[in-house]
Amino acid sequence: MKKINKMLIANRGEIAVRIHRSAKEMGIVTVAVYSDPDRTAPHVLLCDEAYPLHGVTSAESYLDVAKILEIAERANVDAVHPGYGFLSEKEFFAKSVTHAGFIFIGPRSETIGLLGSKTSARDLLLKKNIPIVPGTTKPINNLDEAITVASSIGFPVLIKASGGGGGKGMRRVDSVEELNNAIDRAKNEALKSFSDDSVYIEKYIVNPKHIEIQILADTHGNVIHLGERECSVQRRHQKVVEECPSMALTADLRARMGSTAVDIAKAAGYVNAGTMEFLLDDQKNFYFLEVNTRVQVEHPITEMVYGLDIIKEQIRIAQGEKLSFTQNEVSIHGHAIECRIYAEEYDNNFLPSTGTITHYQPSEGLGVRNDSGIRVGSEITMYYDPMIAKLVVLGRDRTEAIEKMKRALREYKINGVKTTIPFCELVMYHPEFVNGTYDINFVAKHYLGPESKLSLPESTAIASALVSEVQLPDKHDIINTNRYPESKWKQQRRNE
Ligand code: ADP
Repeated sequence: MKKINKMLIANRGEIAVRIHRSAKEMGIVTVAVYSDPDRTAPHVLLCDEAYPLHGVTSAESYLDVAKILEIAERANVDAVHPGYGFLSEKEFFAKSVTHAGFIFIGPRSETIGLLGSKTSARDLLLKKNIPIVPGTTKPINNLDEAITVASSIGFPVLIKASGGGGGKGMRRVDSVEELNNAIDRAKNEALKSFSDDSVYIEKYIVNPKHIEIQILADTHGNVIHLGERECSVQRRHQKVVEECPSMALTADLRARMGSTAVDIAKAAGYVNAGTMEFLLDDQKNFYFLEVNTRVQVEHPITEMVYGLDIIKEQIRIAQGEKLSFTQNEVSIHGHAIECRIYAEEYDNNFLPSTGTITHYQPSEGLGVRNDSGIRVGSEITMYYDPMIAKLVVLGRDRTEAIEKMKRALREYKINGVKTTIPFCELVMYHPEFVNGTYDINFVAKHYLGPESKLSLPESTAIASALVSEVQLPDKHDIINTNRYPESKWKQQRRNE
């Protein structure tokens, strides 16, 4: 066992703040790193020490392994926490951190390498009899092979990048004729995004739910799962709203998917926190999708429902401690929902929105948690991910969680950039979300088609557009709220 006394957080934004908070509560001295635009960001101001990376783009700053290791050396830290994104799932980063003599807070580098490639993960798990989405476990070499495979699986199929992430390098194909072009495009996108153009073929599962299982594995061979998160509200295959637990799972299905996730962790020799992602079809068959070898953006909903701090667990595991609870000692208490607040034009294909935050008043109150990486004056640039905060609520049950989220979204004020807050509000009212039957095509089906264009809720016309789109229970209830038409004077007073 090696106690961590000082830790470098190799990240920015809300997750850097989040990691700092848990580390602080454990008596750990925290070290921030920052790019030029992030000089006065909350993670820099909160951490005990902060070091400049001297650069603007991600490549010049948060992705520069040499600079980060040099700071770790200079600051004399014991450990490095990678957060999510950036270097968190790079095998060479984990390896370099360990070789330099620091503790990497995450899985072993070999595990990251093995599971980071979707094809090698599929290959391993197929051999262990884990149900994977039908398809190849090796990259496709030529068109003939692709035609043979796709025809035997049956259309529609999905061309996916082996090194994929963030929903990139994925193409649905409905016929043999479309195959060649789709492979070329997927390869190009994969090369640009992951410097690896290998692609493979998976059966396209029609209208599934995205269900993922959180696991914790210590260095003593103990592995437990913390139930599921449903993340089917996605745009461009990226999550926007998540909930825990899922309406689609019974206790029995939860136990089966949970034990499959534990089996996957054991098969891969997994250590630390991780997430096993699955697709669940309408017959309740589940198929392994991929492993995320890091803390997930949406981890807070599991924390709220299971009453645990996943970051602290990660740190304890990295110190060599045994898990302090067994599978039977963890259980569900209430229902949590997370809305990701992206600086995006939700009514314009979710295009990034840039600018300076001029007013910031997150919502508060019982059961409301705001994980954010911004403050008044923060510049939202094109350089980094547009997710600026996460609003999480915990209710006694799902109905209360939805009502609480509606209230908390209404209260949340950000001026200076457009955000996904009004979009998330629409989701909370949508009958398909309310009754829990939504699947991964929910956003595309209701909000991205030409006939469902939405405008910003700043005029009466828009308020009525919202009403017709979501069939609100009471029009007036919505139109008369503070988010919708109101006098400049009132707005001014509110922002003072
Ligand atoms: P990434 O690593 O890029 O996030 P994933 O494999 O995790 O890619 O898939 C992201 C999302 O893409 C899933 O949540 C789902 O919405 C969709 N998807 C992926 N594979 C399939 C499939 N075989 N059939 C249908 N949808 C899929």
